[in-house]
Amino acid sequence: MVKYLGPKEEVPYQPKAILAIIDEVPLLSPAHLIFWEWIAEYYFCSIGEVMHAALPAGLKLMSETKVMLKESFQGEFENLTELEYLIAEALTIQHQLSLQDIRDILQRKTIYPIINSLISKGILFVEEELKKKYKPKKLDFIYLKPPFDQDLNLAFELTEKSEKQTDALLALHQLISQKGKASKADWYRAGNIDTGIKNALIKKEIIEVLPETVSRIQTKEATLKELPVLNVEQENALVSIKNGFGKGKPVLLNGVTGSGKTRLYIELANETLREGKQVLFLLPEIALTTHLINRLSKVFGKKIIVFHSRLNNSERVEVWNAAAQGQPILLGARSSLLLPFNNLGLIIVDEEHDRSYKQDDPAPRYNARDAAIMLAVKMKANIILGSATPSFESLYNVELGKYGLAVLKQRVNNQPLPKINLVDLKEARKKQLIHEEFSSHLLERIQENLNQGRQIILFQNRRGFSPFLKCRICGWHAICVHCDVSQTYHKYFNKLVCHYCNYQIVPPTHCPDCGSDALNLYGFGTEKIEEVLRQVFTTAKIARMDFDTVRTQKGYQTIIEDFEAKRIDILVGTQMVTKGLDFDSVGLVAVLNADMIINFPDFRAHERAYQLMTQVAGRAGRKNDQGEVIIQTVRPDHAVIRDVLLQNFRSFYQREIKEREQYLYPPFYRLILIIVKHKKPKVCHFAAEQIANALKAHFRNRVKGPTEPVISKIRNQYIRHVMIKLEKDARLMASIKYYIKINIDRIRKEEGMSTVRFNVNVDPY
Ligand code: ADP
Ligand code: ZN
Ligand code: ZN
Repeated sequence: MVKYLGPKEEVPYQPKAILAIIDEVPLLSPAHLIFWEWIAEYYFCSIGEVMHAALPAGLKLMSETKVMLKESFQGEFENLTELEYLIAEALTIQHQLSLQDIRDILQRKTIYPIINSLISKGILFVEEELKKKYKPKKLDFIYLKPPFDQDLNLAFELTEKSEKQTDALLALHQLISQKGKASKADWYRAGNIDTGIKNALIKKEIIEVLPETVSRIQTKEATLKELPVLNVEQENALVSIKNGFGKGKPVLLNGVTGSGKTRLYIELANETLREGKQVLFLLPEIALTTHLINRLSKVFGKKIIVFHSRLNNSERVEVWNAAAQGQPILLGARSSLLLPFNNLGLIIVDEEHDRSYKQDDPAPRYNARDAAIMLAVKMKANIILGSATPSFESLYNVELGKYGLAVLKQRVNNQPLPKINLVDLKEARKKQLIHEEFSSHLLERIQENLNQGRQIILFQNRRGFSPFLKCRICGWHAICVHCDVSQTYHKYFNKLVCHYCNYQIVPPTHCPDCGSDALNLYGFGTEKIEEVLRQVFTTAKIARMDFDTVRTQKGYQTIIEDFEAKRIDILVGTQMVTKGLDFDSVGLVAVLNADMIINFPDFRAHERAYQLMTQVAGRAGRKNDQGEVIIQTVRPDHAVIRDVLLQNFRSFYQREIKEREQYLYPPFYRLILIIVKHKKPKVCHFAAEQIANALKAHFRNRVKGPTEPVISKIRNQYIRHVMIKLEKDARLMASIKYYIKINIDRIRKEEGMSTVRFNVNVDPY
């Protein structure tokens, strides 16, 4: 904790003089600073790292080095080398030079030896200047000076002789009465006005030009005035929510897709605004939720601003300032949590179960949903967590009575939930009812939906064409040279690509090990699915939505628009298709391979698989009639699949949570993962062993490892994991963090170990 000293307290060090005051008003309120400290403390990082994540680049100070001549220098150029002479001479003309100026003058990169030599000869000195990068955007506005602002006719008397000036004044008057004020640019455009006319009017003291700061942030006008009236179930949920808020509890809103969660968020936000307080609306990913954002913009208009990753540095500063100055609603992904709200009344965490709320790298490795709970406590704000498939942590907190609960079981207008059907892939293969990755049943259903004019979404959790290129003779397969990862074949680029470091090569025609040409592709990604579809459904309009198409072919937005306008019949995609799409005529949704999702080596694999499949299924049949979902799997009897089929999240939760307790996993235990990285495998392993052993001495079998993770090398760094499972006990947590810290410091001081990286990830899931 930072200690704040009172004005008269003794300090245990020699204070330095204040050179300049950079911010007239603090950038941050004390409450926010306390929140930052909590993040640093809980997520095991420095407060500087939190600051770095929070502050927009435009507000971070940049120090710039300036070089100047000493006053004693009187033009004694004799003893200087040629390069030194160039600088000294430039300085006699220009008062000061930046390092970049000097590089330009000397036409070379290495300039420090020359500067040092000039300093030692007593000719130069160097000064650091602090600079802020952000500059407010200024526009010139034109005003009528009194008394002309009251009576324009007085002005016309002065411009009698010039028709142009009179016209210009008329144009100005019109602009001001329309918009309240007139920018110079608007005025110039409105009439046929130029600098000459402007200057003449200034000279006659009829108008004046005043520069004013204007906002760079784009907002939209509210266009939606009427909201649908809440139905009975929504009214009841609202009562439960307020009930929870009244007790000072966070509330979990568990509502199936299309049940009106967003409608309730709007209701709560409106109430908060009426109290004059701010709303923070958190979403897992901004790019994938344009739909929702547009809907909210229509309701809230200029009251809402969106903090998204495409903002430039200056816009970020303005969002920051807007938050500090009471902007009613801010909507953003996880980092908007770090904005300096001055009067926060409500936090909405939509899709609270989403993994994107967790930041893995760099520090702070925080989970925005969990940190939002803390922010709400510190700011005395209400907080609502919404999801169709809540995280186990949140459900468990409801069980413990820490969170309130509101439930929406029905889709608006009682639209039925989609019907889910399974296809047993093993059976289909045995009976040869399969074409590539498609069972005959799925192909039939696709055809039928096409015939009916309904749209189809196909989900495959892997991009590219094929994840493996293997040699049938010797077993060689294509692995990234920098990572311990198989390279994925991308047919469109004709490249083997590493999805971890993006290293790419042209696929070999012969096996690099045995020279045979028996190279085969195994497995399938979205690109291959698309290709097969095009072969089978030759007349259908097919599109793909994954990282590759969104980045290189059509933007996300275009694909969505095309789909909405029915320019696409079948959309194939990765997770991107599971989020925020709200389409009216999707008849069929299919998961091509559920097993890949379920068999993920992670204690949350089942939870995530359930969530993912439910989210995908939720895209089907949102309006009009019942949608259809097909899940292909080799294990139709798998417990998770069974639960998805029943669409009963509660029973799924009840069963799974027992296993969590039995195997000491969250939400019963806390996890801290220490990720050790080094470019030499031996050093990496040794460092991991050292930290594991040191911790085991105190914390015994709570410490597991070191282990080699599934992907044990990324970007030439070898990786080892040390996992800590801890009872939920704040003192134990504090003490283990202390031991982690001192041991990391100790190990890194040992010979050859200073380059080992230890990333400590608290709640790494
Ligand atoms: P969710 O966020 O749970 O998916 P939404 O709030 O988006 O649900 O609601 C789904 C659709 O139903 C939206 O188009 C919404 O405008 C509409 N809707 C929500 N509540 C009502 C209501 N009470 N009456 C009529 N339509 C509603
Ligand atoms: Zn081979
Ligand atoms: Zn790689």
